Amino acid sequence: MTEHRPSMSKNDQLFARAQQTTPGGVNSPVRAFRSVGGTPRFITRAEGPYFWDADGKRYIDYIGSWGPAIVGHAHPQVIKAVQDAAANGLSFGAPTEGEIEIAEEICRLVPSIEQVRLVSSGTEATMSALRLARGATGRDKIVKFEGCYHGHADSLLVKAGSGLLTFGNPTSAGVPEDFVKHTLVLDYNNIPQLEDAFASMGDTIACVIVEPVAGNMNLIRATPEFLTRMRELCTEHGAVLIFDEVMCGFRVGLGGAQEMYGITPDLTALGKVIGGGLPVAAFGGRAELMQKMAPIGPVYQAGTLSGNPVAVAAGMTTLKLIQEPGFYERLGRAAERLVKGLTEAAKEADIPFCGDAVGGMFGFYFSHNIPSTYGQMMAGDKERFNRFFHGMLDEGVYFAPAMFEAGFVSAQHTDAVIDETIEAARRVFKRIG
Ligand SMILES: *Cc1c(COP(=O)(O)O)cnc(C)c1O
Repeated sequence: MTEHRPSMSKNDQLFARAQQTTPGGVNSPVRAFRSVGGTPRFITRAEGPYFWDADGKRYIDYIGSWGPAIVGHAHPQVIKAVQDAAANGLSFGAPTEGEIEIAEEICRLVPSIEQVRLVSSGTEATMSALRLARGATGRDKIVKFEGCYHGHADSLLVKAGSGLLTFGNPTSAGVPEDFVKHTLVLDYNNIPQLEDAFASMGDTIACVIVEPVAGNMNLIRATPEFLTRMRELCTEHGAVLIFDEVMCGFRVGLGGAQEMYGITPDLTALGKVIGGGLPVAAFGGRAELMQKMAPIGPVYQAGTLSGNPVAVAAGMTTLKLIQEPGFYERLGRAAERLVKGLTEAAKEADIPFCGDAVGGMFGFYFSHNIPSTYGQMMAGDKERFNRFFHGMLDEGVYFAPAMFEAGFVSAQHTDAVIDETIEAARRVFKRIG
């Protein structure tokens, strides 16, 4: 039994109780506030740009469920679509027309995708894309970049090995070294290193997987030259280029980062926005590659709830809403207004600070320059970030509870909401200056 002392907030009580039955009290690690310290907020409801915690406090939310809430929380049309779908039954284990519709929409919107397979999480999407790349090429080795997150499949939980071009070390207990010995981890935005890797082992590389706009080491853009060279090298050596757009897809623009950069990957992983808050993710690409998937090809992959009708209804409605005229212009303006306002407020308090925004995604850094590598990002002032985070939380603004995460705005983050955030930041910067 948890003790309910009157001095404990409802959030404190819930956190204490959660830890009795759930490791760390959370079902996904970053929610636990381990990086910033303190008690995670237990959310009771959300609407538009806001959510409310168990103590009834309102927050302006800049996580948006880590991306999906792009049209704002509890959008009436999304909720209605979910209710209508649910009324017809929750899951059938047999195909539905809704799955065709969302597949057609994804193929129409994302330039490189000719065929697509629906799954239930981004982890499944990248894991399956890797398997397909390996199955299609008959090769084992994969290349990833330090700081990019691709879900928690074994062969992707890897950090760089001790030397350049040595194979990686697991970043999680329970991942055998044997499972990651095929994963080469390179520096993001480092062209010579990528060229070296292909020069020495190009004909054994099955694929390169990359976040073309990285959102899991704060926000870091790939340089156009880096992605262009990556595309050339993959083509030259017959390796599959996988863009992991689980986060940046439908977030930096309607056609994702691949449209923004004008680069065509062979396979793309999607998630987050395409489920509109319910579990939908996908991987897709060239038809000739996708035809290698079961049941017509030799690469196996499956899912009891894949293409779930309720989840697909939420996703499809979200994909319609983001195609309203001017949607991404508004989203981009909101993110830019936020970053500009925060930067000016920090400057007034003489705090080294800068920020960047790509579409509806933003990052801010307690450093003088916008980072372009994992190392530069890690060198930011974490101590100050943590004080800023908690200061803003007190002010009713919820940023990601770790310096290593990108932030997100929704279509409901109006100028007034952004300006309220900036005013709060001005007060907090003064306190932590
Ligand atoms: C979130 C994320 C994933 C994993 O998606 P889940 O749905 O959490 O499994 C994979 N890749 C990227 C780039 C992500 O941001």
